[in-house]
Amino acid sequence: MRAAGKGGAHISGAEGLYTGRELLQAVNECAERALAHTRGAPESVVITLEKLSTKPLLLKALPVSTLKCGSPGEADEIAGRVLLGLGVSGSAVSAALKVLRADEAMRGAAIIDAKTGKRLEPDRHRGVRTSRMGISKGARTALSKRLAPLGLNTSTVREALVLATKVAFARGVVAELCISDDPGYTTGYIASKSSGYQRIPRIKHRGSLHGGRAVFVKGSTNIPGLIDYLQERPVMVTGVSGVIRKVVKS
Ligand code: AMP
Repeated sequence: MRAAGKGGAHISGAEGLYTGRELLQAVNECAERALAHTRGAPESVVITLEKLSTKPLLLKALPVSTLKCGSPGEADEIAGRVLLGLGVSGSAVSAALKVLRADEAMRGAAIIDAKTGKRLEPDRHRGVRTSRMGISKGARTALSKRLAPLGLNTSTVREALVLATKVAFARGVVAELCISDDPGYTTGYIASKSSGYQRIPRIKHRGSLHGGRAVFVKGSTNIPGLIDYLQERPVMVTGVSGVIRKVVKS
């Protein structure tokens, strides 16, 4: 689903993989979400349905944890430190934060060389949208049970975790950094195959419209191959990782 405001400005988007019977309900939920978004009332809502031509790759969701963070300034410092530990240079983090903290949010993600900080996506205005990912009914129920006691069982967390899991398993990806563009949602995340999905509370001030995603990759990454995987390869999360921690650490 894509909802846009005046002049085509991005309001909200959502993706999913569904079987026949779940489809109508999903379409309904997408429409409801588009029409009641905190970024404003849309001028257009486009819901596209496509039949998959290949079987989805089955993945287990990344484990979830929450880092201790008190302010956007601290979040930048934490992002720098945590990402450095994952092999992302300071200049690459700065390049990402410039995109994620810009006034106008991109529709997709920036692809950034983890060492040099160079932007690698062909369309720097749009970025690369990760698509064709979903979660099975069983995994969704299991995930909801694990997230609920932590107060994290929301569609925002579940969907971001599914997207982050798909991205983390792409060949060449080192890590991902995300700030939501939703003015009412101030928690961002860092995700990687090795560190899991690490939430960063208070990464932006409430009411702020900026946000975005940066995918850090090794210099040797086949970029067309990565873009093809992110946009086209169906991925279904069918399992939940053993550890879902409330642990708050810095
Ligand atoms: P959201 O988490 O939906 O608030 O999105 C935050 C930002 O991430 C957006 O402003 C976009 O720049 C980017 N984004 C949203 N959805 C996707 C997606 N499916 N693939 C890549 N980037 C996305």
